[in-house]
Amino acid sequence: MPHATAARLRPFGTTIFAEMTALAARTGAINLGQGFPDEDGPVEIRRAAADALLAGPNQYAPARGLPVLCEAIAAHAARFHGTTLDPETQVQVTVGATEGIAASLLGLLDPGDEVILVEPYYDSYAAIVAMAGATRRTVGVRPPHFALDPDEVEAAVVASGGRARVLLLNSPHNPTGTVLGRETLEALARICREHDLVAVCDDVYEHLVYDGEHVPLHTLEGMAERTLTVSSVGKTFALTGWKVGWVTGPPDLVAAAATAKQFLTFSGHGPLQQAVALALGLSDGTYAATRDTLRAKRDRLCAGLESAGLTTFVPAAGYFAVVDVASIGEADGHAFCLALPERAGVVGVPVSVFCDDPELARTLVRFAFPKREAVIDEAASRLAGLAR
Ligand SMILES: *Cc1c(COP(=O)(O)O)cnc(C)c1O
Repeated sequence: MPHATAARLRPFGTTIFAEMTALAARTGAINLGQGFPDEDGPVEIRRAAADALLAGPNQYAPARGLPVLCEAIAAHAARFHGTTLDPETQVQVTVGATEGIAASLLGLLDPGDEVILVEPYYDSYAAIVAMAGATRRTVGVRPPHFALDPDEVEAAVVASGGRARVLLLNSPHNPTGTVLGRETLEALARICREHDLVAVCDDVYEHLVYDGEHVPLHTLEGMAERTLTVSSVGKTFALTGWKVGWVTGPPDLVAAAATAKQFLTFSGHGPLQQAVALALGLSDGTYAATRDTLRAKRDRLCAGLESAGLTTFVPAAGYFAVVDVASIGEADGHAFCLALPERAGVVGVPVSVFCDDPELARTLVRFAFPKREAVIDEAASRLAGLAR
């Protein structure tokens, strides 16, 4: 039998989320594996989508995105980051941040180029780098602080022998919830400038920072002209099924992403784009309320995990808490997660699946907390029976 899947994609198989979500469905376990909220985002956004479905636009949106959304994305960047963007040349609407990342990498990379990734990394990154015919070189972050060491990033760039072209960053970080501080960002910005790298920043958790602040890399000196920033509505407003995202940056880099994007999907989700334009313009209070609700859920789950005897690394941001199952005598997070639905009726994801280095996160497990309080409490009480 010939291989059905191309060699460059064979290592990737089915995503861990599909596997774990199927396991949750089969066993009736509480699914804290995949990062999706169990309550939908603000009703006014959903009502705007319903209105747009009835009134239109229901035909192809322009490839760059509905003008009203491109303008809303530019206004959002000005309001939250003080960034001035031309909505016609510096914004590309995408089918979620996932397509934004794909279009950016496919638009920028040639075969033989290298991408510097921070591991653990979001699972689509490695696959898209492979689809682009490029290769990845990783820099690890470790508990308890999961701090990124710029010296290690620079060493990786140097080791690439001039082939590194893109530094792909994700702050706030999935799965650890780490937010890169200004000092680290300044050092990374210097590395990008000195080694002529393009930074691709996955900022999907930009509005979900519970401790500290999100500083976009493109706001640092000399970075506006060499950074593509990717974000999306899904995480911010608990609408992960909508898949409306965007890429912003200097016109030449956005044009590179746009070139790839037009042949991936051309455009997507016209009526939802209309509603996302409204969402981005909602009040500061709406953004803060979403964030504060999630902060309370974070605190609730982390308290439960800790009282279950799990060493918990309280995240500063995002959707996930990472624990170390070594604290309850477990030696392998993957085996632990495969057994957990039967054993305790809960689904988590082993952090090792997001790593190239199998030792980096051997005993780390990720749990999602954007869930109703009763669900978080039930999961915590089920996990409480685990400690020996
Ligand atoms: C969820 C997530 C994405 C995907 O965003 P979509 O808008 O749903 O495509 C991308 N990056 C990270 C780090 C994520 O957690």
